Amino acid sequence: MNKEELPGLYIHAPFCRSKCFYCDFYSVASRSEIPAWLEAVRTEMILYKEEFPAFDSLYLGGGTPSVLEERELASLFESLRKHFAFGPGTEMTMEANPESLSPGKLKTVRDFGVNRISLGVQSLHDTDLKYLGRGHDSDQALKALEACRSAGFSNLSVDLIYGLETQTLQSWKNTLDLILECRPEHISCYQLTFEKSTALWKMRESGRVRSIGEKMEAAFFIWTSRYLQRRGYYHYEVSNFAAGREFMCRHNRKYWRHVPYLGLGPSAHSLSLGPMAGMDTTNVTPAGLKPGSTPAAFARAPRIRRWWNVKSVREYCRLLGEGKTPVAGSESLSREQYDLETFDLALRTEDGLDMSVFKDVAHSERVLAEWQKSGFVRVSDGRARPTRRGFLVADSLAVMLMDA
Ligand code: SF4
Repeated sequence: MNKEELPGLYIHAPFCRSKCFYCDFYSVASRSEIPAWLEAVRTEMILYKEEFPAFDSLYLGGGTPSVLEERELASLFESLRKHFAFGPGTEMTMEANPESLSPGKLKTVRDFGVNRISLGVQSLHDTDLKYLGRGHDSDQALKALEACRSAGFSNLSVDLIYGLETQTLQSWKNTLDLILECRPEHISCYQLTFEKSTALWKMRESGRVRSIGEKMEAAFFIWTSRYLQRRGYYHYEVSNFAAGREFMCRHNRKYWRHVPYLGLGPSAHSLSLGPMAGMDTTNVTPAGLKPGSTPAAFARAPRIRRWWNVKSVREYCRLLGEGKTPVAGSESLSREQYDLETFDLALRTEDGLDMSVFKDVAHSERVLAEWQKSGFVRVSDGRARPTRRGFLVADSLAVMLMDA
């Protein structure tokens, strides 16, 4: 984090038209609570406007923010503009789904400064979309992409999912080729996962669907990375590709580098550095705190505090309506947690780990030699950077380092 970097702001709009089979994000398939949620989010903004006065990234996610009507979106952005300042060139992203996006909504949010749309396409094959329980078809997805361009958005991100049993490498390639014709500035390719609370999990338990297995998942991952890189996309995080460094998602990069962020809305998470009251967090960085640093150094370093809101829109609205905080829990990161998370996050991104930090860690020379021999990392510009094969095992690299 450089000293000029401001925190990021996340708003969770927990509303969807229907629930996708694979989804474990908190959302409700109803619009009835939107007015109460809007009122509650406004109240929550007031709670934090002293501590977090300014941001340089905004991410309106969910759920599906595009289920909000134009007047609801306008009302939300009016409040945001009233209570917070946004630095010059702030990246403002809104997530949207093809079936609920309209030219009017695109114009509304663009007029309020939204400059990036993240569109949930997932696949351009209708059999895949049915398998996932999505509420749109491939035609609607392509039309939504066109509508974003017509509305003047020059920074588009597309979410895709691979590793479905209805998919082959060839059909996945077809989806990517059609997407590439639209030349989005950013593509996120997520591997399908079976999360316990989802309909897809239950369908697998009852034998109606199955996973494609680790070998095939790895084949999809490696092929996708190569294919998109050959077409000029920069593979900068396990699941993320950008058409240039300037199109890497500024907001998400804050999560990966322990840069403070404020999350508003049910189930949203936040992170701050240092004492809470009256502190200018923009000038505080954990830079003096190296992973593996002594307990005394950790005690002197800015405190890293994380908290999260209740996972129920009704409860969230009730608490704020009664003048109470909607926070469900909080924690201060221990040194071990901080170290593990720093390694884990760094090794999931192309930035990798700073070698001056790495060399202070016990047994790091041996671990580095093993990783290089296995082709998991390469060292360049003073950093240990994960390779494509390293991304594939990113979840276990940090643990290997901590356990060495
Ligand atoms: S639209 Fe997005 S948030 Fe809503 S259920 Fe589907 S995957 Fe989940």
